[in-house]
Amino acid sequence: MHAQSDWSQNRPFDRVLTNCRVIDPANQIDGRCDVAIRNGVIAAVGPGLAHQPSRETLDLGGALVTPGLIDVHVHVYEWVTNFGVPADAAGVHSGVTTVIDQGSAGAWTFGGFNAFVIEPAQTDVRSFVSINLAGALKGGMEGPLLHNPALVRIDEIVALAAAHPGRVAGIKCHGESGSQSYWDLDVLRLAVKAGEASGLPLYMHTGELFPVDESRRPDPDTVAARALALLRPGDMAAHVYSCMPDGIMGRGDQVPDYLIEARDRGVLFDLGHGINLSFRIARAMMAAGIYPDTLGSDVHGDFTAYHDYSILDYSLMGGVNKMVALGMPLTDAIARVTLNPAKFLKDPCIGSLTPGMPANITVLDKIEGDWSYRDAEGEELNVTSRWVPALVFRAGQRIEPDCGLLADLLSPAARPRGITRSMRHAQR
Ligand SMILES: [Zn+2]
Repeated sequence: MHAQSDWSQNRPFDRVLTNCRVIDPANQIDGRCDVAIRNGVIAAVGPGLAHQPSRETLDLGGALVTPGLIDVHVHVYEWVTNFGVPADAAGVHSGVTTVIDQGSAGAWTFGGFNAFVIEPAQTDVRSFVSINLAGALKGGMEGPLLHNPALVRIDEIVALAAAHPGRVAGIKCHGESGSQSYWDLDVLRLAVKAGEASGLPLYMHTGELFPVDESRRPDPDTVAARALALLRPGDMAAHVYSCMPDGIMGRGDQVPDYLIEARDRGVLFDLGHGINLSFRIARAMMAAGIYPDTLGSDVHGDFTAYHDYSILDYSLMGGVNKMVALGMPLTDAIARVTLNPAKFLKDPCIGSLTPGMPANITVLDKIEGDWSYRDAEGEELNVTSRWVPALVFRAGQRIEPDCGLLADLLSPAARPRGITRSMRHAQR
């Protein structure tokens, strides 16, 4: 490994991070080296930078440094949706510098999301707008009212995407039993049309979500297969290791052919951790060579009360740690929260430590000690160490994450500021 060139070597760096291990999958870096920042961008990565002139040198005590983490699936439209969490709680305060909100805003509610969530956030926030005009106002509730084809207008999505390039980064849609019981694949077909008309990728939820019309409940074994068949190369399906009967794995214990077919066609898969992650299914899929392309968290609050995220017990870094505990190499897991999401978004300015890029950086400490993760089926996964966010740089600005939402990685005593805020919200 050698130091990458710095184009303005006569000026001191603003800050050099040293005594650390750097994993930057985009540049095939995994080793001890320094990271230099100047004017909010990465100035250089390589050994020996701490010996060059710098306003500040930060000894990280052996910590792990990665490109700023990217979470492709969060819900952060506070107060407008009943299950949104604060953007910076899911973002920089969870060690994540870029979050993608999945469908909280629709074309008619994106204006508020832009002004009151994206603009004030320290975190880089993007939106996959809901295929319906209103957005996911009520989480998994009220599907038949809010998510029906009458509330879809493709031309409004096309106009919105043109007006907010980058911020409107894709379209959220659903491939599950409730929607299919009411409208078969109608809304999904409209989403594909909207994707084609706007040039945006789709992100599709899988696994029963909306209330089902029981008189027309589809055969669970057909739900994911029929939905996946509509996705295009570059579109992404969520919840790949979910244990929902109508989910991607279905009710069997063999990886279904339709999943292999979709993957081979270029359809992408997100972990979409959420409340239905199954270690059993993860093991079966991994044994068959099926890995998520990204490790989105699906961080959200309770569906029945505004601003109650006291029961939230999963996170982006929790997903990284769980994948590692299940056998995924750490570098592969880091690629799935940095390089791969950046590729999915087709955004060359995030997901790596390439000199010239905005200095979005996550610093992770390894905590030694017995710890246990629990999945949706009650299985426990015991580990003896875990990676936890220690520091974040967002466009060069230093932020100390409060880790308030990281209940799956830290005890309440280890995240006092976050817990205080969480309780205050829950009491409202
Ligand atoms: Zn979600």
